[in-house]
Amino acid sequence: MSNMHDTAAFREQYRAYAQSRYSGWLHLGSILLISLIGAIYCIFQISELRAHELLIIPLGILAYNAVEYAAHRWSGHNKLRFTKLFYKRHTGDHHSFFSAPLLSFESTRDWRIVLFPIYLTAVITFILAPLCGFFLSWVASGNMGYITAATMILNHLAYELMHIGYHQPKSHWFHKVPVFRELAHLHRIHHHRKLMKIYNFNLTFPLFDLLLGTFYWEPQDSFDDFRD
Ligand SMILES: [Zn+2]
Ligand SMILES: [Zn+2]
Repeated sequence: MSNMHDTAAFREQYRAYAQSRYSGWLHLGSILLISLIGAIYCIFQISELRAHELLIIPLGILAYNAVEYAAHRWSGHNKLRFTKLFYKRHTGDHHSFFSAPLLSFESTRDWRIVLFPIYLTAVITFILAPLCGFFLSWVASGNMGYITAATMILNHLAYELMHIGYHQPKSHWFHKVPVFRELAHLHRIHHHRKLMKIYNFNLTFPLFDLLLGTFYWEPQDSFDDFRD
């Protein structure tokens, strides 16, 4: 019960500091626009595609899943020297704002604490994805370079959209769709204060959690009864 009070108090405090001009839809719309422009541009550059070049898609997804896992586990939940700001934003703010049983946002203004800042999408789309793309076009082929860049950009977009979905109110359609519903519950387990440093660090799908032994599942009913 006291945890609920802590979370409610943190929410009030955080909202009081958030800029009144903030718009969740503008934030999400900017991320969507930047990502789709980047991904569509890359897709339109592909020409004379050969089947084997598509194999870079699962490899790109695998690499993204590893980075997502490592960044969340080791810098989101550990105070490292160069990523202190991410630690503060993630463990300090995101996990304080969403802690069982308060795991849903109340309005689109709360998306500020779910979505990454817009500049991260811009850095991924205009710097990191092109750099990886150039590398792949150098060692493999131009098509593979563009496919890699598009895969990276779309993976990051999926991360943002899934995370918004996980924190939707329980009655939202997202929680009724099979697979989305289970992924949301995995994230709900991760948001428990005693479990957040131990389990379920992947957000898009739990591949590296399964590979590295940090996957944890407990059925919804028993989890709610015993943990909250
Ligand atoms: Zn979350
Ligand atoms: Zn976390």
